[in-house]
Amino acid sequence: MIMQGSRMNPVKKSKYRYRTQMIITEKDHFSATNSHTPITTVLDEFYKMGPGPSSSHTMGPMRITYDFYQRISRLPAEQLARATALKVHLFGSLSATGKGHGTDRAALAGLLGKSPADCPSEFLDGITLHPDQNYQLNIGPARFELSLKDIIFDSVTGNFHHSNTMTARLLAGDEILYELEYYSVGGGFIEWKGYNPPEKGKPRYRICHARDLKKFLIDDKIPLAKLLLEQEMSVSGKSEKEIMEFLDQVTEVMIRGVDNGLKTETMLPGPIHLCSKAATINRNLHKTKKANPGRAITQIASYAFAMAEENARGHIVVTAPTAGSAGIIPAVVKALRDIKISQQKIREGFLAAAAIGYLCKHNATLSGAEGGCQAEIGVGSSMAAAMIAQAVGEGPRVVSNAAESALEHHLGLTCDPVAGYVQVPCIERCAFGAVKAWTAYCIASEEIPEEHKVDLDTTIQAMALTAKEMNSKYKETSEGGLAASLVLC
Ligand code: SF4
Repeated sequence: MIMQGSRMNPVKKSKYRYRTQMIITEKDHFSATNSHTPITTVLDEFYKMGPGPSSSHTMGPMRITYDFYQRISRLPAEQLARATALKVHLFGSLSATGKGHGTDRAALAGLLGKSPADCPSEFLDGITLHPDQNYQLNIGPARFELSLKDIIFDSVTGNFHHSNTMTARLLAGDEILYELEYYSVGGGFIEWKGYNPPEKGKPRYRICHARDLKKFLIDDKIPLAKLLLEQEMSVSGKSEKEIMEFLDQVTEVMIRGVDNGLKTETMLPGPIHLCSKAATINRNLHKTKKANPGRAITQIASYAFAMAEENARGHIVVTAPTAGSAGIIPAVVKALRDIKISQQKIREGFLAAAAIGYLCKHNATLSGAEGGCQAEIGVGSSMAAAMIAQAVGEGPRVVSNAAESALEHHLGLTCDPVAGYVQVPCIERCAFGAVKAWTAYCIASEEIPEEHKVDLDTTIQAMALTAKEMNSKYKETSEGGLAASLVLC
């Protein structure tokens, strides 16, 4: 109501004109300063598997402790024979908010050698249900008894290299046998003291924007999926077989997550006391005899709920592009499987979706803290629209138009997670993101592609500009929007 009133306010109108001028100025600035370095993001940096609900506070820490587990597994037997304990210290933001996120259970699971990609949900839940349980870990001659007590919430303030710092130690009594300082740098990415980014190959195609991609498709007369695969191989150095195996693993993790979510009915963790609803919606959909014109929409929404609720439970998800938006692409993958789209076509869909995500990451942002929810749910929906169009065999123009439409109709979406939990509005937003993706594909596949007015680069640029202009209250602070207006009882 306040917003409607202010739109009619003449004072605000003049402010609006001023803001329009600002936008033009920033647009010029944006065009002049935007990086023209080619995109070199690769699939396994983008689709990361690990426990939700937070890529920085659960996925990153589990990847860190699993990395430490792998490192100490390679130590000489004589060194391991002396070891008596393993300890992980959480600092900064990980210590301040890690309890609520479940950072300690994710870190313990990784330390116990559970792979972030396929740690069973039951194992993670077991740690929460039995917080005092000891777990036996054998590495070579070393024998450890580990529990949540070995994950220590250490100093919140201090002169840390990064706000999400962790230290992992292998000890013999008080003596440190091996130690490494790690950083969970966001998006599930991890680094450590002395980290050097992996060397990448030279991209076969120099792509900064969607228009570059379009030019190569026309000039080289090459199908989109083939171009994207060649690009991935050139940058990552991986073979086609390795890339396809990775995409198959991503598919399986997503499908498993949706299936788990459809079977599970629980109150989700945290202060909101939110009841999950994927299982209810799916069950009611299948038991009703009456005609339901929205059947397909309800089905895909239930899939998105299922995966997003799994994220809220701290179970294994795939960032696509983030943990908060992790329900969208799995819903689409499951729906594509329902209509018997082959795994090869789904792999091609993943390549197209990643290309859209890369363009958004390169020219705007994927972070709710930087750009609001348009950067997470909006990009996820755009990626999903491209995936559907590619997987069902549409040409690149339709793929691009579908992606553009889905992103366009999320522009300006704010990030306002209630109580700081990735639940309200995030879970339902995944459902709407998936449905909008399918709508965008439907429109793009039936319109005359050449008459689609807005191109993808323009919309990505609009997202970047909107992100810059967005009030910081709406960037993952939980100080605005629903987070401010919803009163929790
Ligand atoms: S509201 Fe914020 S935390 Fe939730 S999905 Fe959107 S960007 Fe992520």
